[in-house]
Amino acid sequence: MPTIPAPEADGEFGLIRRHFTRPGHTLPPQAVLGVGDDCALLQPTPGHQLAISCDMLVEGRHFLPDADPATLGHKTLAVNLSDLAAMGARPLGFTLALALPAVDDTWLAGFARGLFALADRHACPLIGGDTTRGPLTLCVTVFGELAPGSALRRDAARAGHDVWLSGRTGEARLALALRAGDDWALAAGLDPAQAGACHRRMDAPEPRLVLGQALAGVAHAGIDVSDGLAGDLGHILTASGVGAELQIDALPVAPALERLTATRRLECLAHGGDDYELLFCAPPEQRARIEAIAAQAGTPVTRIGRITAEPGLRWLDAQGAVQTLPGRGFDHFA
Ligand code: ADP
Ligand code: MG
Repeated sequence: MPTIPAPEADGEFGLIRRHFTRPGHTLPPQAVLGVGDDCALLQPTPGHQLAISCDMLVEGRHFLPDADPATLGHKTLAVNLSDLAAMGARPLGFTLALALPAVDDTWLAGFARGLFALADRHACPLIGGDTTRGPLTLCVTVFGELAPGSALRRDAARAGHDVWLSGRTGEARLALALRAGDDWALAAGLDPAQAGACHRRMDAPEPRLVLGQALAGVAHAGIDVSDGLAGDLGHILTASGVGAELQIDALPVAPALERLTATRRLECLAHGGDDYELLFCAPPEQRARIEAIAAQAGTPVTRIGRITAEPGLRWLDAQGAVQTLPGRGFDHFA
């Protein structure tokens, strides 16, 4: 788009060259043409479908102004790769749209370091983007591919399916409360190792790409848990026109969460955001296969409940009695 050249117009291209081109770095084969032309060129595997997702991080809303730039680079891409994982897609590449209040080379170098470290681990190259002046905003669009019919769609849960969760939820929520100085979190008296584990979960989520791709075509519905387990499962239930029963005692609990009161613990487990774990549904016949896939992927999975024909989400205690849960998930416009 034509813009009126600012006095430092050259700065935009210099910035892209310094931080977002990588001389000598070879692109993976699917990226035929990367940063520098009018468009990038991607070559998906013949017969595959494209999976595309876009996520935006805004300063003051998704991260604080003093956030470490390398951590932010990691997280900006991680939340997008997590969407590919939740669909069962293999990453092909991504674009980066940046609004920056000023050119800060130290900040940009740190941001690019965190971003490329994660991108390289998943052979997901930066292939283009846009750069403009404005309040700090980071927007990634990620491109992936999958075999037709294999996607983990939200509308594919059926009554009788098991509900599975990768990893465990709640630590990022606890980290947020620790940073905010919330009494209930401080009262847990976490040792530095436990607190550190929570902060890492919040800052440096690991997209479950290996697991997600292995589940494509095996599991049916899937979603990544970004806004809280209950809320995100709710999206599957709505899209599929079904309900679910979850076993409270089946939810995996991190050591740090053991130290909370039962109510706060459950609130973190069920409603804490920023987990980036996979929640998926599969017929009981697939149990052994899913256990094997999880072992192969090196990501633990837990069966936490089942899909029901009766709509709504019900939490069951060890006796099978329905319990009402405290709190709720996060909604930017609620
Ligand atoms: P155009 O005017 O054609 O949109 P730009 O001047 O915006 O092109 O960008 C020049 C090239 O640099 C393009 O290949 C674009 O994809 C790439 N690019 C711009 N900003 C970024 C960025 N933040 N990260 C990666 N590539 C970028
Ligand atoms: Mg442009």
